[in-house]
Amino acid sequence: MATTRGFLVGRFQPFHHGHRQLVEEVATEVDELVVGIGSADASHTVRNPFTAGERTMMITGVLADIDVRHYVVPLEDIDRNAVWVSHVESMCPPFDVVYSNNPLVIRLFEEANYEVRDPQLIDRGRLRGTTIRERIVASEPWQDRVPDAVIETIREVDGLNRLRKVATTDAGGGDDGDSDG
Ligand code: NAP
Repeated sequence: MATTRGFLVGRFQPFHHGHRQLVEEVATEVDELVVGIGSADASHTVRNPFTAGERTMMITGVLADIDVRHYVVPLEDIDRNAVWVSHVESMCPPFDVVYSNNPLVIRLFEEANYEVRDPQLIDRGRLRGTTIRERIVASEPWQDRVPDAVIETIREVDGLNRLRKVATTDAGGGDDGDSDG
């Protein structure tokens, strides 16, 4: 029987328990999973504090405990949305089904005739990249919202000090939030 490969993309700034639960769910529906690290070229800002390499460490560490063959692929943003799907295809193993809640991502893949599934967002009151970044900047507890491998990566790269530093120097000095507000 043919292998079903799923594609899941996010910025993962940082990868949190909501992302982990989503991966666990998707893993029950596909044989293999491609995790695309979006905005791979962005780092050292309040909205995107971690590099693609650091996010790869987080995701690889977490997925080691999830029983699905997987590939982690950094994806730089490009200027033209109209060719973004081709860009993704050129960087990733072939995939059959796309998982996303992002309206632009959904639209672009549907126009390219992919099956797109819109997964449930989990515990959005707590599990939101923006909120976790804000809590780090404010020195409020955040560790219970992310897997241990993410805490370990952030510690290894001195991520707390980086994020607090860029929060004082990034344009506007704050987090401009994500597309879902
Ligand atoms: P995003 O802009 O990173 O996030 C959108 C919102 O959806 C965020 O609030 C995010 O929350 C939330 N979210 C996504 N998946 C979630 C989940 N499973 N559970 C809880 N919340 C979830 O967009 P994205 O869809 O995650 O990533 C799309 C990536 O594709 C971006 O890097 C974007 O730049 C890229 N892209 C590029 C182009 C281009 O280059 N032309 C075109 C389209 C898309 P969290 O912050 O908590 O994750």
